[in-house]
Formats: sequence, structure tokens, C-alpha cells
Amino acid sequence: MSTVVSARGVSAGYAGRPVIHDLDLEVSAGEVVCLLGPNGAGKTTTMLTLSGELPQLSGEVAFDDAVTDAPLHRRARAGLAYVTEERSVFKALSARDNLRCGGVTAEDATALFPELEKCMDTRGGLLSGGEQQMLTLARALCRQPRVLLADELSLGLAPLVVDRLLAAVRVAATEGGAGALIVEQHARKALRYADRVYVMSRGRIVMALTAAEAQSRLAEIESTYLAGTKAAIT
Ligand code: ATP
Repeated sequence: MSTVVSARGVSAGYAGRPVIHDLDLEVSAGEVVCLLGPNGAGKTTTMLTLSGELPQLSGEVAFDDAVTDAPLHRRARAGLAYVTEERSVFKALSARDNLRCGGVTAEDATALFPELEKCMDTRGGLLSGGEQQMLTLARALCRQPRVLLADELSLGLAPLVVDRLLAAVRVAATEGGAGALIVEQHARKALRYADRVYVMSRGRIVMALTAAEAQSRLAEIESTYLAGTKAAIT
């Protein structure tokens, strides 16, 4: 499978100070890759850098093997979907109009999440957290992205909804050929839908595993969370 997004030796941060260091990662078409790690490990900074929202301080980001410094809106036009924990729903617009703004039809969205059908005429701000995130994910996935970056898609949502969201990402990869990089706090759950895992600690990737390997080393992975920024596993 071809690599759709990669980072090579990437450092990035804020006000010229790196918080992620010498990062190497890649995601291929059809893969779901999970980025795990404790608070402050640098997961969101990694996603911001890959999306083009945050320029890297050194190293290279490539899409489809072509190195790019393009900003997010240009990467989006080239097939990147970036979904964050901040449910990017227009609160005053109906669910249907929220989809329309993204060039997605209500029919396509309900094919993905049938539970949205009853809410199409409801204002975005009145939808539940789960419905808002289904709407956000439908808007991203129905455009058939080549790359999906999803940062804590399921933050604060009920376990059943988390499963619905992760299953939709899995289908987009398996059937639609998207390459997905997802940041998830629900490590155990996420591993059921992922092919591979990167574990970050203190701004570095400290483990690169298949999902099966990660399942068998869950205790070790979770210890990086408990150890917080002191974790140093290889
Ligand atoms: P969490 O799981 O808590 O969301 P994370 O792994 O996504 O954490 P980041 O949000 O990438 O971690 O943060 C990595 C480091 O960068 C942290 O030390 C954080 O305080 C710092 N940081 C994040 N955003 C900024 C910012 N806008 N300005 C300065 N420092 C920042």
C-alpha cells in the first residue's frame, strides 16, 4: 500500500521552542494508525504539524511522497480531512446545512450514520455531543479523503458512540482506501479498530507496534500514561 502521509525527522513547537522532536511516522492508504500517549506527550502538536496548521521547525512532512509546506486549506483541497475534539459544527445551522457547507448530502451522511436522519432539521447547537461528532465525521468521510487526521474524536462521548465513530473510520480505510491517523484516549477500544500504533512520550515516538503487538503490551503502554512525562520506554 502506498504511503499517504509521512513525517521524517520532524520537530515542531511553539514560539520557536520544539515540543516534538525528530519524529518519524507514516500512514499508508487503507490503514488506521493510532497515536497514543499521556497528556502533554505532543499528540495534538503532531496532528497540527501534519495538517499544515503548525509549521515544523525542522524535518519534512510529505503527502503521497511529495514533501509539502502547504497550509491546511491547500492540504484539504488535496484530500486531507482534519477532525478535532472541538466539534466543528455551525451551531445556528441545521444538521443538513452543516453537511451542505462541506459539500456533503444528507443521504450520504445518513448512509454512514443512520441515527442522523432524525436530526437533519435540528440546529447543530441542539444536537447531542455524539450527534455533533457523527455530523463532523460524516462531513469529513463522505468527501472520501485520502488522509484523515482525527484528534480525540471521541472525547467525553459514551462508549457506544465511540464504537460507532471508530467503526466508521475503519470502514473509510478498509473500503474507501483512506489512510487514518487517530489520537485516542480510549487505547483499548482504539486498538480494536487500528492496524498499527505509535506511542509518544515527552515529544518523541517511543514505541511503534502493530495493533496485535500493542494488545499484548497494553500494560506497558498504559504505564507510560501513569508515569506521565517521566515515561521512557524503548
Ligand atoms: P493532551 O493529551 O493533553 O491533549 P498532547 O499529547 O496532545 O496532550 P500537546 O497538546 O501536543 O500534547 O502538547 C505538547 C506540549 O506542548 C505540552 O507541554 C503543552 O503544554 C505544549 N503546548 C501545547 N500547545 C501550546 C501552545 N499553543 N503554546 C505553547 N505550548 C503549547
